[in-house]
Amino acid sequence: MSNPIFITGGAGFIGSAVIRHLIKNTNVHVVNIDSLTYAGTLESLKDVSDDARYTFEKVDIRDHKAINQLFKKYQPIGVMHLAAESHVDRSIDGPALFLDTNILGTFTLLEASKKYWSELKNKNTFRFHHISTDEVYGSLDKEGLFTEASSYQPNSPYAASKAASDHLVRAWHKTYGLPTVTTNCTNNFGPYQYPEKLMPLVILNALQGKPIPIFGDGLQIRDWLYVDDHARALYQIFMEGQVGGTYNVGAHMEKKNIDVVHLICELLEELAPKKPNSISHYKDLITFVTDRPGHDVRYAIDATKIKNELGWEPVETFETGLRKTVQWYLTNTDWWQRILDGRYQGERLGLEGR
Ligand code: NAD
Repeated sequence: MSNPIFITGGAGFIGSAVIRHLIKNTNVHVVNIDSLTYAGTLESLKDVSDDARYTFEKVDIRDHKAINQLFKKYQPIGVMHLAAESHVDRSIDGPALFLDTNILGTFTLLEASKKYWSELKNKNTFRFHHISTDEVYGSLDKEGLFTEASSYQPNSPYAASKAASDHLVRAWHKTYGLPTVTTNCTNNFGPYQYPEKLMPLVILNALQGKPIPIFGDGLQIRDWLYVDDHARALYQIFMEGQVGGTYNVGAHMEKKNIDVVHLICELLEELAPKKPNSISHYKDLITFVTDRPGHDVRYAIDATKIKNELGWEPVETFETGLRKTVQWYLTNTDWWQRILDGRYQGERLGLEGR
């Protein structure tokens, strides 16, 4: 294997999309470093895992000895760091694991990267790319957009842990000169997303005739990005982004949660007209439940910098992306059925906060 890119969290939702993109559309070699938590499954990589340019290493990013050994063994050209605990509701119920994985895991990778990079002859080629979230910026009112200059005001334990890891990455660049880049992205949607997240939860509950929970009044606004557009942006930023820079990634697709749910129900009426139980309309399953504690009202990203500097723009619209997503869950029942059978049954999480 020639010098690969390390992808941490490659068995997760976005990480697997990045690996599929790299194997299908570039010539790079990839080492997927993932400990396979509840959120990771190698089944998301079945399209590319036989490729000679792909290797998997089941390693925890907090295991500094194992991580140092991987650097020695593979001599990577850089790291795209996606491994994290990623679900806000779980961070409310159990924040400790979020601090451990997201902060200490990032610290471990930074230290291992620094050690390896400091011994490289050509130090300019290495990149440490941290994949982060717009949730570090907190919540917006009706007006305004998050820019790269927005202040950090994280509200959930998840967002706070990602904010902390962003700060570590910045510090390792400023203090030690490690060539880093950080991206802060809006809510992703698309195939292979774990069923606890809004879109798959709505699709799968609807298909099973179960209540579709809406937190609070459902008027919270999220800004959406199709996962394959994100994967493309990430690789471009990894290759061409300014060292020490940060980039916001988004597609200007602001939607109220309740509208997203209605759109999914309408698509299901068209694509899966045969309904379970004796439901007349999928929309009849919508059930308003107690809001998430500390629920942010609105996220919206200004993605001007990535467009102007790198020429990146999303390909999918919200409508085309949503149709692809719903169709994918309809045709890939094996993938999500195995998760529902074993690990997660769509239960409500994140009520510990108040
Ligand atoms: P995910 O939960 O689907 O996947 C996370 C992956 O990390 C899993 O494969 C899991 O096994 C792995 N992992 C967790 N802890 C690990 C550890 N200690 N060692 C090794 N591997 C470990 O997450 P995702 O939605 O794909 O998000 C990926 C990254 O992108 C995260 O850093 C997240 O904060 C960020 N992000 C996500 C979104 C989104 O909408 N999903 C938006 C912006 C940023």
